[in-house]
Amino acid sequence: MSTDTSWATRVIVVGAGPVGLFLAGELRLGGADVVVLERLSTATTESRASTLHARTVELFDCRGLLDALGEPPREPRGHFGGVPMDLTVPGPYSGQWKVPQTRTEELLHEWAEALGADIRRGWEVRELVQEDGYVEVTADTPDGSRRLRAAYLVACDGEDSTVRRLTGAAFPGTPAGRELLRADIAGIDIPDRRFERREHGLAIAARMPGGVTRVMVHAFGRPVRRRTGPPGFAEVVEVWRRVTGEDLSGGRPVWLNAFGDANQQVERYRHGRVLFAGDAAHRQMPSGGQALNLGLQDAANLGWKLAAVACGRSQEALLDTYDDERHAVGRRVLANIRAQALLLLGRREVEPARALLGELIAAGPTRDHLAAMITGLDIRYPIGGGTHPLLGARLPLGTLSTPDGPVGVAELLRDGRGLLLVADSARAELRWLGKLWSDRVTAVAVLPDTAGPLHGAEGLLVRPDGHVAWAGADPWAATAAIRHWFGRPDHGL
Ligand SMILES: Cc1cc2nc3c(=O)[nH]c(=O)nc-3n(C[C@H](O)[C@H](O)[C@H](O)COP(=O)(O)OP(=O)(O)OC[C@H]3O[C@@H](n4cnc5c(N)ncnc54)[C@H](O)[C@@H]3O)c2cc1C
Repeated sequence: MSTDTSWATRVIVVGAGPVGLFLAGELRLGGADVVVLERLSTATTESRASTLHARTVELFDCRGLLDALGEPPREPRGHFGGVPMDLTVPGPYSGQWKVPQTRTEELLHEWAEALGADIRRGWEVRELVQEDGYVEVTADTPDGSRRLRAAYLVACDGEDSTVRRLTGAAFPGTPAGRELLRADIAGIDIPDRRFERREHGLAIAARMPGGVTRVMVHAFGRPVRRRTGPPGFAEVVEVWRRVTGEDLSGGRPVWLNAFGDANQQVERYRHGRVLFAGDAAHRQMPSGGQALNLGLQDAANLGWKLAAVACGRSQEALLDTYDDERHAVGRRVLANIRAQALLLLGRREVEPARALLGELIAAGPTRDHLAAMITGLDIRYPIGGGTHPLLGARLPLGTLSTPDGPVGVAELLRDGRGLLLVADSARAELRWLGKLWSDRVTAVAVLPDTAGPLHGAEGLLVRPDGHVAWAGADPWAATAAIRHWFGRPDHGL
């Protein structure tokens, strides 16, 4: 067995699902060597998530990934626990972007590889040892068993994470108590059904392009099965008949799947040199497409921080902010998914709660609140340091007026660096900070514009994930913030 110990700044990412691939690209943008280990020898063709929400689309824009996506269909109709809801939000990326997960993975794979990520397929991680200065994994590979060392490792290996088991990370929460069966079926002709709650269960059916119909069904009171693989077609036919009275047996199953309402979150997203992201960090019912989006946003939060630490620019404490920020966001998403599971899969007793929620959604503010939550646009990290309206929130992707003309925020964030937006009128010291940290932060002079993002501040510090880390006028406070998030400059201070 050979051991690769050339790991000076290298990060191992276990799992080349969407989260592992996005993280790999982010790590490369931050300058860290990264090896991605994926057990599948070829990319999966399995039909999974199909929705990108507004915040994820913004992040893709900030990395220049949107052109390659083309013009995917957008669906403003959403739901909360099956109660219909318009998901329109302010900004250019409103609605649910319907992109098959296979396409998202293909795009992220190409991007990460073009940035220099070393993606190794057919590598299945079996063992993991964490020592003082490194993490070592043993993997089954096409060339036999191999060991690989790195300074850090990120588990992006999905909901049944091997890394979670190997590190003994606690994964508290509730196991699945209810289950949905799902099938893509060719050769059937049944009416479309959006969250149809019937006497014996819930039925959903949607005709997809190519003549295939996706059905999802839950029979009230049916116990969750112990499964080692997908359900058989006969089981789907039987449960569908029980709930709707219709016969699907003449169809041809293209894909079969079962999922439950398990709701679990890893206790800490950081275990020394091992970090967790995506489904490895949280298991949830795939309701409203939030699981994939939550995971991709984990990667956006972690990538630049881990790159800075792995490359020696920042202290390890920066990694704890990943746990602080994303664990809280994950808790909140898991709570809304739990509420949705109750509304969707509960028997008749939930009808009054559904009716009331429907009224609240129609009234306006509740809809706005839920839409901002589901799309991820309302995320505000507890950064502290003032009361500026954007502190901790993401900087909206508008256009900035600069002495060189208008510039888009997304373009400014493309290279994964931070931004220091400085008002024309700001003190010279603020402008000087931009020069001092010029290897990791782009300084931009902004012309006075009351509608602009400065909102009365002299300067705004924006992290590579687009969140505002400081807003104000005091150069000393700005220095502390920039040092906290970006480390010490190479020379001085
Ligand atoms: C069958 C299925 C259907 C789904 N349907 C929906 C849906 O309809 N809507 C929705 O929003 N979400 C859905 N989801 C959830 C969504 O697909 C996930 O949230 C998303 O894939 C999470 O991405 P990830 O990168 O964290 O994990 P994954 O996509 O699971 O990727 C993990 C990767 O790690 C690899 N891996 C695992 N163990 C090892 C190991 N030991 N060594 C090396 N590699 C390893 C796996 O092969 C995999 O490629 C579904 C998930 C599944 C599994």
